[in-house]
Order: sequence, then C-alpha cells, then structure tokens
Amino acid sequence: MHGTYNLWLVALSLVVATLASYTALDLSSRIFLLPQSRLRHAWLAGGAAAMGIGIWSMHFIGMLAFSLPISLGYDIATTGWSLAIAILLSYRVLDIVTQAKLTLARLITGGTLMGFGIAGMHYTGMAALRMEPGIHYDPALFVISIVIAIAAGSVALWLAQTLRDDDQSRVIAKRIGAAFVMGIAICGMHYTGMAAVHFPADSVSGATEGIGSQWFGATIILLTFAILIVTLLLSRFDARTSLLAGSVSQLNGQIVRLATFDTLTDLPNRWSLMEQIERAIHASRHHRNMFAILFMDLDGFKIINDSLGHSAGDEILKAFAQGLLHCVRGGDTIARLGGDEFVVLLENLGSPDDASKMAESVLDRMRQGLWADNQSLQVMPSIGIALFPQDGDTVEVLLKHADAAMYEAKRGGRSTYRFYEASMNAAATRTLQIQQALHEALGADYFSLHFQPKFRGDNGELAGAEALLRLHHPALGLLPPMEFIPIAERSGQIIQIGYWVVRETCRQMRRWRENGLPAIKVAINLSPRQLTQPNLVATMLDIVRAQQVPCEQIMFEITETVAMQDAPKTIKMIHEFQASGFDIAIDDFGTGYSSLAYLQRFRAKQLKIDRFFTNGLDEYGHEGSAIVSAIIKLAHTLEMDVVAEGVETDSQLAKLKGMMCDEMQGFLLGKPVTSEAFGALLQRTASHPKRIPKLRSVGS
Ligand code: C2E
Ligand code: MG
Ligand code: MG
Repeated sequence: MHGTYNLWLVALSLVVATLASYTALDLSSRIFLLPQSRLRHAWLAGGAAAMGIGIWSMHFIGMLAFSLPISLGYDIATTGWSLAIAILLSYRVLDIVTQAKLTLARLITGGTLMGFGIAGMHYTGMAALRMEPGIHYDPALFVISIVIAIAAGSVALWLAQTLRDDDQSRVIAKRIGAAFVMGIAICGMHYTGMAAVHFPADSVSGATEGIGSQWFGATIILLTFAILIVTLLLSRFDARTSLLAGSVSQLNGQIVRLATFDTLTDLPNRWSLMEQIERAIHASRHHRNMFAILFMDLDGFKIINDSLGHSAGDEILKAFAQGLLHCVRGGDTIARLGGDEFVVLLENLGSPDDASKMAESVLDRMRQGLWADNQSLQVMPSIGIALFPQDGDTVEVLLKHADAAMYEAKRGGRSTYRFYEASMNAAATRTLQIQQALHEALGADYFSLHFQPKFRGDNGELAGAEALLRLHHPALGLLPPMEFIPIAERSGQIIQIGYWVVRETCRQMRRWRENGLPAIKVAINLSPRQLTQPNLVATMLDIVRAQQVPCEQIMFEITETVAMQDAPKTIKMIHEFQASGFDIAIDDFGTGYSSLAYLQRFRAKQLKIDRFFTNGLDEYGHEGSAIVSAIIKLAHTLEMDVVAEGVETDSQLAKLKGMMCDEMQGFLLGKPVTSEAFGALLQRTASHPKRIPKLRSVGS
C-alpha cells in the first residue's frame, strides 16, 4: 500500500522546520550570553519547549501531508511521548550548544544525540499510528534516515556555534540561511524515514479513535507558529532590554570611573584617596601600625604651565605621575588631588624612616628629569609628610597637616621634604588668613605703596624710586610682600593686584607732578604670573596713559630667575615693553642662572645686583668684591646700568663707588617710605639736589 503527499503541507512542514531552527539559533546565541543563572534555565526551558514543539509539529505536518487509502489516526499517549522526546532533546541540544566552548567531541556527541532524538521522535510518532499489522521498514533507508538525522544534528550544532561566535554583521541573513539548511536536513530525515516505510496491503490504523481530524492538525499548525513567533519576539525583546541594561551598566561603570579617577593621569582622585585613607586608618588601628601621607606639590609648575602652554603642562603632570608610579611599592596608593598636587599613601610602615626614604627616592628620580613635550624637563616636588597616628587621626587632619609640612618644604628652599610638626599648623593657618586678607584687600583698601629711593653712584643725586607693595590688615597687621606675594601668585590674585600697583604708582606720580615736584623714574616689580598674561603690555599702557604719566618714567623689574625660565618669550615681552616706551630692569641678578647670550638679547636698561652680593662685599672680602666687580663690568659691556640693592654700610657704598656702580639702593641711603615721605624727599631734592647723599636714611 502506497501513500501520497499533499505538497502544500510538505512545503508548510519545511517552513515550520526552518522557523523552529531559526528560533533555536536565535535562542542559542541569546542563552550563550547569559550567566549560569535561573534566567538561563528559564530561557533553556522555554526555548526547548518552542523548538521541541516546532520540530515535532514539522513531523506532525509531514504526517498530515501523507495520506493512505485508509483512514489514519494517532494514539494520543504515544504522540505525547514523541512530543516529550522532541522537547527533552531540544533542551539537551540547546544546553550543549550554549556552553562556553563547543569542542569537537561535544559537537559529535551532541550531533549524534540530536540525530537519535529526531529519529526517536519520528519513529515514536510513527508508532502512534498503531498500524496493524506492523509497519515494515526498509533497513537501508531506515539507516540512511538516522545517518541524515545525525548529520543534520551535527550541522545544526556547528552552525549554531559558528553564528554565535560570529560578529554582528548580517547575522540575521546568515541565521536565516542556516535555519533553512537545518530545516531541509530535518525534513530530509523525516521524508527519508517515510520512504523507508512499507505498509502492508491490509494495514489499518489502530488509532483512528485518537487524533485524526484535519481541523485538529490545523490548530496544531497555528499553535506552533504562534509559539515560535512569540518565542522569537520574546527573545528579541529580551536581547534589547539586556543590551540596554548592558549599556546602562557600562555607562554606570564610566560614571563611577569618572567620579573616582583623575582623567588626565588615570590616578585615583581626591575622593577615592579620602576613602583609601579612611580605610588605612581602620586597618592601622586594627593592626596597631603606622602609615604616612606624602603630600606633593610641583615647584614652579604654574609658571611652566603658563609659559609652555597647558598641553605641555598636562604632559608634565602625566610624566610626573608615571615617575611616581616607579617609586612606590605594590600596595601604595598614588592620587592626584587636582592641579599639580599629588598624594602618596604609604601603608604598613616600620618607622618614619620608610617615609623619608620614599620621599628621597621620589626627589632622586625627579632630579633625573622628566621627558615631556619632546624635551627633558626637571620638575621637582616639595613634599610634606604626615604620619598616622601621631600627626592626626582623621582624613582631613592628616591631609591638612601633610599640606602644612609641604608648605614648610617650599619655604625651606623647595625640592625637599619635611615631616609635619605642630608649629607648622600655625603657618598653615596664617597662609589661610592671608589668602582671606588678599581676597578682601583690593575692595577694603588694605594695600598701599612705599617708595624706596635709588641714588646715583657718581654724584649721589636721586636717580629714581622703586615702588614696593604693603598690605595693612586690621587683624594681621602690616604684611611684608615676601609673605603675601607668593600666596597671591599661587592664587592668581597677583594679576589684579599688579594692575592696582601700576595704577596707584602712576596716580602718585601725577600727584607729585601736580604738587610741582620734579619728575622721577619709578620702578615697578612684575611677578612671574603677570608675565604670562597675553595682553599685559597693552593693559599696562592703557593704565599708564589714563593717568597721563609718560611711559619713559616707568621701569618694570623682572627677576632674573623668571626672565630666564622662558628666555625667548621674555625677550619678546621685553621688546614689547620697550617698544611702548617703558624701561626694563633685571631684578635680583645673581640668584638665577643667567645665560650671557640671553642677557645680551634682553637689552634691559638696568641690572640690579641682589642684596646677597652687596652683603658679600663686607662678608667675603676680596672674593666678594671680585664677583661684584665682574658683574658690573659685564653689565657695562652689555650696555646696562648697574644698581646695587641692599646697600647697608659705608664700606659697601665706598667699594661700589670704586667699582663704578651706577646706582645704589639700600637702607643706608633710604628705606622704603610712604608716598608723603617720599614727596618730602622730592621737595628737598628740588631745593638742594647735591645734599641728598649726605642724608643717612630718608626713612629713619
Ligand atoms: P625687590 O624687588 O628686590 O625689592 C627690594 C627689597 O629689598 C624690598 O623688600 C626692600 O625693602 C628691601 N631692601 C631695600 N634695601 C634694603 C637693605 O638695605 N637691606 C635689606 N635687608 N633689605 C633692603 P620688600 O619691600 O620687602 O619687597 C620684597 C620683594 O617683594 C621685592 O624684592 C619684590 O620682589 C617683591 N615686591 C614688592 N613689591 C612688589 C609689587 O608691587 N609687585 C610684585 N610683583 N612684587 C613686589
Ligand atoms: Mg625689585
Ligand atoms: Mg631685588
């Protein structure tokens, strides 16, 4: 007895097999990404049900497509078994294919299992026909059908794995192709299996009481489609939400990183450092040991940053961070607090010596220079050290004390380290108070100018004055510039203060002129930070012109150290000043390392010999005199006038005169005095110009 096929239903069975395969492939790549969790098992179970029903339904549709001259029915229990086999098999296969690594052995085992499973389901489904007499199978075709099932299973697993590892490009197209191949393989097995069937002529189906009606078949087909499509949609939806969840958690990770790490150097930031110190406090309390905080601030970084540019500054900070990483031990923490401030947290210290060794090794390393901005630069830190528990037992106090010690290191000559001492706290508090005072100073009129006279070496006439800034604070008293100018430098307030000094100097000069006093040249000090202002010269010019003071009456003093820091830029700036009619003096000469070549190119009007050398005239005898004499000769060769600062004794004055020093400035001849006192001096000069040198000190 031979059966016939309804080709529409055959085609439909192929569509269902392909759809089931597609669902399986989609799910396998989905489940693969899930960790070993309840979610994974849920997806495995759901996926297995959808895939099992799909495969089984393909078989059922294939059977519906087949008709014999006799009516056929299906035994419900056996049909149920075939469905159970399909689902269990699908579970196992999905489980195998979604393991982290699909080895060849696993592929073969899985493929064989899948083959036997499909065949098992198929032949159990056939048994549900309950044919009387029993069905005859052609042995060769029977074996081929099983081989096809195993081959189909292996190919299916292989495809699933390949697609799982594939990148995302055109993955859907590839998956559809693979699903189609699998669909053909499954159908191939089914129809080969059917071809192996031989129904004896007088066969009857013993299951006509069971499932037989066409409408029931149609219901199953619809249901299958519904299940497969819903499963696919769910899988897609879940993929989207987990993708979303994935990017949210990635974003979250980035936010946490931003909040805890410094983006420039990739070091922990202030926030994470404070957490680390907090933890170190607990750990040290528990283990009864000590730890140290090394607070570092780069010396002169602001000037480098302003003169070489911010990107060069960034490079230096990165190079410094790298250098630090080479100095510390494995478990130590390095953090950047911001700007040029770094902190190293050293835990489990045997003694404070360990901290000083670390500080020395950092200084040694930095002395060798840092490679940044295509050049080797020497950037040294000043280091302050605070120890737990002796120097404080909270994060804030420890950091504050390490900072205070760092300030002391700066005051003690920089590029060095200091341990915290209780007296430093007072210094740190004072710094804070001065910062506050500076904040209010311009508005509250705390500033004033003093003027110190300069006299000619040859005839003793008044040659000019230097304007020197003073800060009178109601609570802090009179502050000398050496105390507040470095703080104003650090905070940047010096820019506005500097403009005030020029404006006030010019206002004063105008007042003297209006009072009929002789015109005089006044020198104004410029600080490093001011020199980095791009429109400095233009702004100065505006201020001076507004007060109707001729530019020729103003001289700006730039300290040698600052002038040499970025000599080419200084040259440009000096020339700009000179082009506007201002004079330039190189202040505190001898304290920096001048390059003669640059000194020549500066073409400054004056060279001011630092007080240290004037002192040396008395203290170092012949040697001291030789140095000053050499400086004066050098300056004269370069066509500069020489001013000796800090002349305090008659013997210094006499020696300087003998060396042809052009001008003298010092307490011996005149201390810095108020504008009124200086006005009185000018008055006397106007009436008795030659008597001025006889005055011992105009200020006293
Ligand atoms: P400087 O420019 O070298 O000024 C000379 C300093 O030496 C003044 O100190 C002056 O009082 C002091 N001095 C003068 N003659 C003698 C002497 O015979 N013996 C001794 N021991 N000292 C003498 P001062 O006024 O305390 O100023 C200190 C520094 O502060 C100045 O050094 C200058 O660099 C800076 N400075 C002062 N005013 C300003 C300002 O308006 N702007 C800026 N940027 N810096 C200023
Ligand atoms: Mg000066
Ligand atoms: Mg000076």
